[in-house]
Amino acid sequence: MRVYMDNAATTPVKPRVLEAMLPYFSEKFGNPSSLHAFAQQTAAGLEKARGQVADALGASPGEIVFTGGGTESDNAVLRGVAKKYAGKGRHIITTAVEHHAILHTCEALEKEGYEITYLPVDEYGLVLADDVKNAIRPGTILVSVLFANNEVGTLMPIAQIAAACKEKGVLFHTDAVQAIGHIPIDVNAMGIDFLSLSAHKFHGPKGVGALYIKKGVSMSPFIYGGGQERGRRAGTENVPGIVGLGEAIEMATADIESENRKITALRNRLIAGIQERIPDVKLNGHPMLRLPNNVNFSIKYIEGEGMLLLLDIKGIAASSGSACTSGSLDPSHVLLAMGLSHELAHGSLRLTLSGETTAQEVEYVLDTLPPVVQRLRDMSPLNKVRP
Ligand SMILES: *Cc1c(COP(=O)(O)O)cnc(C)c1O
Repeated sequence: MRVYMDNAATTPVKPRVLEAMLPYFSEKFGNPSSLHAFAQQTAAGLEKARGQVADALGASPGEIVFTGGGTESDNAVLRGVAKKYAGKGRHIITTAVEHHAILHTCEALEKEGYEITYLPVDEYGLVLADDVKNAIRPGTILVSVLFANNEVGTLMPIAQIAAACKEKGVLFHTDAVQAIGHIPIDVNAMGIDFLSLSAHKFHGPKGVGALYIKKGVSMSPFIYGGGQERGRRAGTENVPGIVGLGEAIEMATADIESENRKITALRNRLIAGIQERIPDVKLNGHPMLRLPNNVNFSIKYIEGEGMLLLLDIKGIAASSGSACTSGSLDPSHVLLAMGLSHELAHGSLRLTLSGETTAQEVEYVLDTLPPVVQRLRDMSPLNKVRP
């Protein structure tokens, strides 16, 4: 059996999404900025997708800018706001548990003279809206807090944080890459000024994303060139990718509630099964305020990497920390920020489900994981210190 439980890293493109994209590789190939019928066809595809993304967020089409993915959207906001408002202030607030697309951009900005506050989180990975509010000072130009954590699935109190920012007159950005398709989002009701999303996290293609920029809010462009995307993001648009993004977000947000019911039941079965069948495990992230598709455990006395290799041999694709940190041996910055020891952080296992996950797959993982853990524990030097 082959079981894919790494949907937080990426997801397969749905057939309907691929089908929508295909004509834009060949017959509908015109440059959307040109002034002829070929262009009009392509421009129509582009604008349909813009409407689909806007509808999914409760935004209007003019507020959507297409980008090269989640990382680019994050970079664009941080750098675009930093540049635009440098005269007003050079202080940015974020959290210790952001994706590296935010953290590493912030580190680069620090080298350029900006000051960054990295807010701490509690044991569940939550940041408090009051902490955000108290960190705001004259000279704060942006607050950026991720909507849902990509490692442990914790959902941040986004509406409360946005309200605190509004009260203090500071712009608010959220990296909602993991939340799209799982949590209903209305940018106006939630008070969001900027939002990043990425198609490949919800069954769209890789290398394409979007940035929501609230009407009336300005920022400097991040990529210079032609006047595409109304001067906000230069470069000939990735039309097939954008068409796929539009179709994927429409499908992902069409029926969040019933999809969530199904995924949550499977996730709860997986969590309960692991707790029943494997001693000395710790569920990471918030027990309730978490993405419906996220399971993250620290499994004591073993290393996550060894577990991933043995699971892979058994046909199970999982992850330890984020895809960017696995492959390196650094423990997850998210788990460390939540107060876990290095040992517990190293023994983490992330299983992320999708609407395509089946009950049989969950049972297969529950049957396969305990002997894998036992085998590693039998070999583990960490096990010797076991009380
Ligand atoms: C995947 C991810 C990103 C990066 O998106 P890409 O499209 O892969 O560049 C950014 N933030 C979060 C929370 C993510 O999960």
